[in-house]
Amino acid sequence: MSGEAREACGLFGIYGHDEAVYNTYLGLYSLQHRGEESCGIVSTDGRDLRYHKAMGHVSDVFNPDILERLRNRAAIGHVRYSTTGGSCIENAQPFVASYARGPIAIAHNGNLVNATDLRHSYERHGGVFQTTSDTEVVVHIIAKACHNTREERYGHCFNSLRGSYSLLLLTPHEMVAARDPHGLRPLSLGEMRGGACHVIASETCALAQVGARFVRDVEPGEMIRISPEGFKSYRFVPAEDIRPHHCIFELIYFARPDSMVFGQNVHEARKRFGAQLAREHPVEADVVIPIPDGGNSAAIGYAQESGIPFDHGFIRNHYVGRTFIQASQDRRNAGVAIKLSIVPHVVRDKRVVVLDDSIVRGTTSRAKIAQLRAAGAREVHMRVSCPPHRHPCFYGIDFQARQELIAARSSLDEIRRFLDLDTLGYLSVEGMLSCVAGPREHYCTACFTGEYCVLPSEDVGKFSLEAGGPA
Ligand code: SF4
Repeated sequence: MSGEAREACGLFGIYGHDEAVYNTYLGLYSLQHRGEESCGIVSTDGRDLRYHKAMGHVSDVFNPDILERLRNRAAIGHVRYSTTGGSCIENAQPFVASYARGPIAIAHNGNLVNATDLRHSYERHGGVFQTTSDTEVVVHIIAKACHNTREERYGHCFNSLRGSYSLLLLTPHEMVAARDPHGLRPLSLGEMRGGACHVIASETCALAQVGARFVRDVEPGEMIRISPEGFKSYRFVPAEDIRPHHCIFELIYFARPDSMVFGQNVHEARKRFGAQLAREHPVEADVVIPIPDGGNSAAIGYAQESGIPFDHGFIRNHYVGRTFIQASQDRRNAGVAIKLSIVPHVVRDKRVVVLDDSIVRGTTSRAKIAQLRAAGAREVHMRVSCPPHRHPCFYGIDFQARQELIAARSSLDEIRRFLDLDTLGYLSVEGMLSCVAGPREHYCTACFTGEYCVLPSEDVGKFSLEAGGPA
């Protein structure tokens, strides 16, 4: 990955297993790439909720004593990168609260584009919020709902939300999974023990991690409730009103290559992006190398289609800590060099095609190209396995400001010169859509095309809930 865009979060939930908490811990481990700032697990014994959450990686936050203290037969977990609300323990999830009907925990992947409006309206009527995360409004809506059944109350809540949400709820009575009517973020259903135990995860790699069988995706506009009464599926939006807009950037960048996302294997989709890129932007060269890990699959596809040999020109250092200090530009370049080192023999005196999954701000790519030049590459041709990012994302990916995007303010030739490349080629929107499973209109491409499926409130942004309330 280029390291310039970050995902919102990852979810894992399991109901009806003696090792529910340990399996949640394992599931979160395999979803760590979706959020590295904080994580948490909540479990229930059927009467109350127990939880532990903290800043840091799953491996740092949990130990055997904590897992034992949480031990129960149902649990949900969350890994977080902040897209609305700052990075602090108050905003770590799952979010846990108590209301008139008892305790509830909520884990959210996505971004609610009407959270500010909803929150201000609750605050005007005396509502008190503990966090600056958009997820907290979900609790307020559920607490205020006066419908007779749980399903109606949850359905009312989900219908009040706009934007992207894959959600997991846990109460002493049930685990609930829901996905927004656009299906923007992935959410998968699995089962263990012949269907006696149900598992929900952001990606199927987490299902495989715990030995669960992938059953199907949670459908856009669907709510699944798992309780002592069994498994039930409800539609909170009629099927005929569903307009899927799956985030195509999950396939390009975020999801793990071994996951099935939106009906296809991510590694295979990335190879198809690379092969299409080779057809759209051929070049005479000696070697194809990826920028690891995000460019790996696309580079294989480019090499296979073009007939140019594939090799590893960069080697990733897996032991670089998150706290590597890189305050100045020089230090940032050093940071890139310490994370990725060059194999000089692969690139020296060669015409090199380098594959990356995206260029967002351009600064990281520039440092990588400088490494290739310093190692003696004769020509450097960059191929990017998605179209230029020209528009912000309001649905949970951290590039919300247009001015942050190099392709929004520079021509392709200006980008090429800034990066010090011989040639630069991006995948076309049409080419990208020709590589994915299912109808092309079922994918969100807004950060490339500016065509948004849900428009945000005017003041939506990462810190829109940080300070100040309604006027
Ligand atoms: S705008 Fe881009 S990153 Fe955001 S949901 Fe759509 S495709 Fe994904």
